[in-house]
Amino acid sequence: MSSWTQSELPALAFEDRMATAEFRVAPEAHIVVDGDGCRGCSTKACITACPAGLFVPTSDGGILFSYEQCFECGTCYLVCNEGGAITWRYPEGGAGVVYRRS
Ligand code: SF4
Ligand code: SF4
Repeated sequence: MSSWTQSELPALAFEDRMATAEFRVAPEAHIVVDGDGCRGCSTKACITACPAGLFVPTSDGGILFSYEQCFECGTCYLVCNEGGAITWRYPEGGAGVVYRRS
């Protein structure tokens, strides 16, 4: 067992910390994005808000989304300005992101 305290942990850049995350991908998406709702969205806030960069704009005004490397932070759900455009839940047991400090 480590004897590090929180304040003694060596500094680690965000990108380096995220690189230690493991994604156990569930067969079923835990976040579903309704592309029709996205076409009328004026902010497209999810694109800049998602720390994993999982929302990509399409040429027809929609959004392309992939759930496999989701950090499960819930930010997209909070910033989405179109009710019902995002259906969000945690992945099924044993699946999803695993954070490790190495
Ligand atoms: S903020 Fe919501 S409605 Fe707007 S593009 Fe993103 S997911 Fe779609
Ligand atoms: S929960 Fe977080 S990491 Fe996952 S898609 Fe939404 S904003 Fe991106």
